[in-house]
Amino acid sequence: MKKNITVLGSTGSIGVQSLDVAEKAGFGVTAITANSSVEAIEAQIRKFRPLAAALSDAAAAKDLKTRVADTGTKVLSGEEGVCECAAMDGADTVIDAIVGLAGLKPALAAVNAKKDLALANKEAIVAGGPLVLDAVKKAGVKLLPVDSEHSAIFQCLQASPPNKALKKLILTASGGPFFGKTREELKNVTAADALKHPTWAMGAKITIDSASMFNKGLELIEAHFLFGVTPAQIDIVVHRESIIHSLIEFNDHSVLAQLGVSDMRIPIQYALTYPERYPSPVKELSLTDVGTLTFYKPDYETFDCLGICREAVTRGGLFPAAVNSANEEANRLFREGKIGFLQLGELIRTAFEITPEKPDFTLADVYDTDKAARARVIDALRD
Ligand code: NAD
Ligand code: MG
Repeated sequence: MKKNITVLGSTGSIGVQSLDVAEKAGFGVTAITANSSVEAIEAQIRKFRPLAAALSDAAAAKDLKTRVADTGTKVLSGEEGVCECAAMDGADTVIDAIVGLAGLKPALAAVNAKKDLALANKEAIVAGGPLVLDAVKKAGVKLLPVDSEHSAIFQCLQASPPNKALKKLILTASGGPFFGKTREELKNVTAADALKHPTWAMGAKITIDSASMFNKGLELIEAHFLFGVTPAQIDIVVHRESIIHSLIEFNDHSVLAQLGVSDMRIPIQYALTYPERYPSPVKELSLTDVGTLTFYKPDYETFDCLGICREAVTRGGLFPAAVNSANEEANRLFREGKIGFLQLGELIRTAFEITPEKPDFTLADVYDTDKAARARVIDALRD
């Protein structure tokens, strides 16, 4: 049976690679969505002929509707339109490759419509972890990690039946463009400096998160929710070559790792074909070409965002949502040249002040926290 997928965030780095995987695997495309990239999504509509497409920006959606009137693809608009695409009949798996908290409601819409969810959008699970997990359980669907580290752990876990012998997870981190620098040296770095990532070509937001290592903090929280381990059971190790994508350790101290060239199409494809494996267009790994693999302890002092995320996930409740939203705001301010690199952690930390202690929370609580955290960051900047 031909498999059909829907791609949320189809015009982004992960979205484009997902459509590439779908094309090579012979999958159909049910729906695609983006924020406002009219030209890019028009080209995708003409190529993949989906049933529907949505742009969250209403003016852009209106423009798109006129442009593709000849195609038979239904054009939807706004967050509701994106959610309607996420829930649309026909797709077996929905890949959520939206950036930021904007991906949470569409993820829930897909799951509630009984679609398997291939999740690249880490902010959704970080901010709404228990809500996403509950919805997945109720709907009886699969939650498949796309983030390369989590795909690696997921693949390692296939090798061992779930049992109490799992001791810890080891997340690898490239260390980003500022690896080895001191805080003094990072005082005046700009977004342009941070956008020179050593191993992965990614969207602007995650590239800045990689430079500040907030990305690894998000991944620590993501791993906690996806694999049900405590934050203390998750180690982070800097591995500059990005060849080992992550590891798991058992209580007998046997360690399993997943390796491959740094190309997101491997984890994307595995999430879309699981439990099967398809041949891949990605290059084979040559260990002798790589030659040397190196490992370092993360520098928690220089990269304070790591400690902030560890504290947030350990405190639980709405704290992960709060630091995620504060980071979305601070990350944007840094990209716009309005704050310095060292202010990122400083501003994000202020989110702890506005977060209520609430172990059980609702979707409305997540959005209240989002508003409050963003407002706190803007206030802190004014002080
Ligand atoms: P990107 O910026 O390249 O693409 C983001 C996509 O989301 C675009 O299609 C954009 O139109 C859409 N979008 C943006 N704002 C939106 C909104 N408000 N509503 C609806 N759609 C919106 O980002 P990316 O690098 O592809 O990353 C996407 C997600 O995948 C992020 O959560 C990121 O952390 C995660 N991820 C990315 C990579 C990578 O290699 N790029 C690796 C692992 C995880
Ligand atoms: Mg990752």
